[in-house]
Amino acid sequence: MTTRICGDCTVCCLHFAVPEIAKPTGQWCEHCTEAGCGIHATRPQPCRNFECFWLMDESFPEDLRPDRSGVVASFNGEDHDSVVLHLDPMRPDVLAEPPGSEMLQALLTAFDPVFIVCGEERMMVRRKAE
Ligand code: SF4
Ligand code: SF4
Repeated sequence: MTTRICGDCTVCCLHFAVPEIAKPTGQWCEHCTEAGCGIHATRPQPCRNFECFWLMDESFPEDLRPDRSGVVASFNGEDHDSVVLHLDPMRPDVLAEPPGSEMLQALLTAFDPVFIVCGEERMMVRRKAE
C-alpha cells in the first residue's frame, strides 16, 4: 500500500481520454486546476481508478514523478504484462537520458513490450534477446 499522493501532479489529466466527461486524449481536462481536480468529489470512475507507477510503487524514485520526469508510466489498460509510457510532447527526448533512459531499461527487464506514446506518435520497444 502506497502512502504517496499526487500532490501538484496532474499530468494524467492531460494524456488520457475520459469518455464520461467527453474528455479527449491528449488535451487538458477542463476540470483541471492549479490545485488539482476541480470536481474531485464527483470525478468519474476512470479518474478514481487510475494510478501511475510512481503513485503505486514507492520504489520508483521521487524524480520520476510524472510532472518532474515528463513520463507517465502505467499498465497497458487491463494488460499487466505490458506498460505504456506517455511522454510530455514538449519533452519528446526525455527517454534518451537519465532518469528516463534508466526507467525504460528497468521496465524492459520486467515488461515486454513497452509502448511509448508522444502526442500522435506511437512506438513499441521490445526487450533485447539475451
Ligand atoms: S500522473 Fe500519477 S502522480 Fe500524476 S496525477 Fe496522475 S496518478 Fe497522480
Ligand atoms: S475529472 Fe478531474 S481527475 Fe479526471 S481528468 Fe478531469 S481534472 Fe483529471
